[in-house]
Amino acid sequence: METDRTVAVLPRLFALAAIVLAGYMTAAHTGVVDTDQAGIRLELPTQLGPWQGHELLFCSSRNCGHSFFVENLPLDPDGTPSDVCPDCGAPLATMNWAEQSMLPKDTGLTRSVYVPNPPPGPTFYATIVLSGDDRSSIHRPQVCMVAQGHDIQDEYTIAVDMGEGRPPLDVHVLEFARPVEGQPDKIETTYYAYWFVGKGRTTASHVQRMIWMATDRIFHGVNHRWAYVSIFGARIPGSRAHVQTIADIASRLHPAILLPDDPPLAEVPPVNPSE
Ligand SMILES: [Zn+2]
Repeated sequence: METDRTVAVLPRLFALAAIVLAGYMTAAHTGVVDTDQAGIRLELPTQLGPWQGHELLFCSSRNCGHSFFVENLPLDPDGTPSDVCPDCGAPLATMNWAEQSMLPKDTGLTRSVYVPNPPPGPTFYATIVLSGDDRSSIHRPQVCMVAQGHDIQDEYTIAVDMGEGRPPLDVHVLEFARPVEGQPDKIETTYYAYWFVGKGRTTASHVQRMIWMATDRIFHGVNHRWAYVSIFGARIPGSRAHVQTIADIASRLHPAILLPDDPPLAEVPPVNPSE
């Protein structure tokens, strides 16, 4: 069906995203009473500047694995979108089968594909993962990706201008390349960009996030729900155009998902206090 063809433009992106997400969300129990406080809402905007977002649901059957735009699903008698796969009848979920098998059951996840409206322009995927009772963050995506055959071509953090006198948002960018399956003379080049959002806190640093999680437990006795926000798309080899695209996306997406009672970046210390 048309939905499948559209979504299948970058089919390997989902498997890649699943691997990275699972690495981050590996379960680690703590002795601290959890709170339900998160810094963001688990909801992606339908319109994001020049992009139209299409929320995705995935068939939970590994043998099927099809994905669908929620807006294209048949409606149940009560007017809500069907929650079973139109192709095989298995349950639909916000996670694909690989993510379902690897992530803690109460992990929240939402994913949309954003297409330029009107075209032309870059297409990208946006994903928010919200930790459940198992707060976790063990493996680095850099390690997981390389294990799956992706070569890291470059890796850096960009400071995205957030306007209105706000501090910049740090976003970590990974550039990947690997041979296309079955076509070894062709190289698939992609970017993966991410940042973390906690209660009143934002960072692109895995280490900083771990430090905050530890100090929050030790000194404040809380274990807030952290969100892992990522964007993913294709890039042109040798071009830096995707960096501007990432900055454009992040500057729109981050304020759109922050909870209104959580001042943007309010508790983030200056990157360089000596400045
Ligand atoms: Zn199915």
